[in-house]
Amino acid sequence: MPDLLATPWAAIAWSAFAMTLIVVGRYLATSGVFAWLTSRVRPGYHTGLHPQVRREIAWSLASAALYGVPAGVIAWGWQAQGWTRIYTGWSDYPLWYLPVSVLLYLLAHDTWFYWTHRWMHAPRPFKIAHAVHHASRPPTAWAAMSFHPVEALLGAVVIPALVFLIPVHVAMLGVVLGIMTVMGVTNHMGWEIFPRALVHSRVGGWLITASHHQLHHEKYRCNYGLYFRGWDRLCGTDGGLADAYRRQKAS
Ligand SMILES: [Zn+2]
Ligand SMILES: [Zn+2]
Repeated sequence: MPDLLATPWAAIAWSAFAMTLIVVGRYLATSGVFAWLTSRVRPGYHTGLHPQVRREIAWSLASAALYGVPAGVIAWGWQAQGWTRIYTGWSDYPLWYLPVSVLLYLLAHDTWFYWTHRWMHAPRPFKIAHAVHHASRPPTAWAAMSFHPVEALLGAVVIPALVFLIPVHVAMLGVVLGIMTVMGVTNHMGWEIFPRALVHSRVGGWLITASHHQLHHEKYRCNYGLYFRGWDRLCGTDGGLADAYRRQKAS
């Protein structure tokens, strides 16, 4: 039997397919766990939302393919062609660079997200693309990847582009993807998972969690950031935390 994977195109297609399955599995597992947790922490939160949840899952599965294909192509290029600045030796760069690289990736992704997100709130791009994400009222844990293909592509190119620019240990890339996945889900599940002491602390005032992103889904015109509140604060678009979370604090 000829070795199908011996031809580069077959190997690329296989890598893209495998990566898509990984992204789908990651989405179903993470959103599934946090949706289940939501049913425990806030019973009744999903009542009446089942048609919306079905739409969130359908859009998210389509997005998973759009995230998986470029990631799969890059993964093949990394392994077969030596593309990218992903490294595997712990001593290839100083140890202090490990956390710094994670921070650089998060800051770069946050910057890209903030400005493309603001652009998508202009009337035309909103109508064409971003309305899909905002059709979740209120969003649930399943909305983490509920994007129109235009928005999904804008998000899907970030990490594949950054691995060519910023050196990163493969394990730290895993940390970045883990943070991306967990924050994407928890920011949409309708309750705050992080301790109040952190959310309402000085450091917490610079971080985006559900308390912050929920207000974006309520008011649309503020809180555009992804991980950090720096761009929102700098550009005067920071609306603070959602009312429900302020009340939660008082109760
Ligand atoms: Zn959102
Ligand atoms: Zn938005």
